[in-house]
Amino acid sequence: MAARLWDEETRRAGQEYAAAGQVARFEVRPGCVHAAVQGRAPRPYATTIAVPELAPAQWSRLVEHLAAEAQHAANLLAGNLPQGLAALFAGVGAELLPADPAAVALRCTCGAAGPCKHSAALARLMIDRLDADPLLIFTLRGLSGPELINRLRQARAMQTAGAMAAHSDPLLTDAARATPLEQSLEAFWRAPPALAEVSRQAPAEHAPHALLRRLGPSPLQGRFPLAGLLASVYDEVTRAAQRLRAEAEESRD
Ligand SMILES: [Zn+2]
Repeated sequence: MAARLWDEETRRAGQEYAAAGQVARFEVRPGCVHAAVQGRAPRPYATTIAVPELAPAQWSRLVEHLAAEAQHAANLLAGNLPQGLAALFAGVGAELLPADPAAVALRCTCGAAGPCKHSAALARLMIDRLDADPLLIFTLRGLSGPELINRLRQARAMQTAGAMAAHSDPLLTDAARATPLEQSLEAFWRAPPALAEVSRQAPAEHAPHALLRRLGPSPLQGRFPLAGLLASVYDEVTRAAQRLRAEAEESRD
């Protein structure tokens, strides 16, 4: 998209603006991305890049397709884009991002006739933000990430309702089997034997830095690599915890 909207020189100037932190109050809203871009004038320019939103019917079908695959839902909950998302968009007659430059509207208060370096800077920052928080693509196309997750949960609940009914609820069955309180006062606060097993189980596999990704870009993005630093800290803490755990296991066995 970027290469066709801005000429090489404007694109490079925009990149420099973005790298110099001249894009402030960056905001992705349904159908557009907006920021105040500091140019040569004392006051920053209000710059907007708008793209068409998907129609409500297209969103409904897209959510249905996403909900049908557990893997898609798991990816999205971890803050990642599901594989083959472009094909899913195509399946509902939409594109992830408009291929036709004419579908993208650039607005900037600098008054330049064509695509300006301020909108190029904004586009550059958007690409970086999408890298850190891929779910922003949904907001840009008209449905915010959290709203999408909500609708996905609802759709998954509807789709799995039949399967759930076929199995008994393990929590209810356990409660039914529990000894009455007056007969178990002695041991009431003691953990049942099964609890000891929990600490010995290997932790579930999970997407790396899922929480960091879900939190989205830090307000210091572009000026200070906060997310990257936190990711390294988490990795180091995880490794240290795993080491301690392995040592504890060894001394116990
Ligand atoms: Zn401008």
